[in-house]
Amino acid sequence: MISGTVIVATEICKGCELCIASCPQESLSLSASINRKGYRFAELVQNNCTGCMNCALVCPDSAITVYRQPKAAKQTAKPVLKAQTA
Ligand code: SF4
Ligand code: SF4
Repeated sequence: MISGTVIVATEICKGCELCIASCPQESLSLSASINRKGYRFAELVQNNCTGCMNCALVCPDSAITVYRQPKAAKQTAKPVLKAQTA
């Protein structure tokens, strides 16, 4: 499995919301604050990004960089210590 994350260049973003509409995970939303140009910008609001890259591909300003990494393998359960019987 792959997990991902995105970095938005907030000063480039114009808040068009195309990336938000394209995200199948609903990982993105518009910020409450604005950038220096006066736009609300896209930001990651959930930790469920799969790194699918939809958002980066639709962004007309190339403001999104996607990072992908394999999900850490499940830790094997530690052995349970049994109580000693006499
Ligand atoms: S890479 Fe995919 S899952 Fe992650 S924020 Fe972008 S569209 Fe959503
Ligand atoms: S598609 Fe690009 S410009 Fe539009 S809101 Fe998303 S990051 Fe900003």
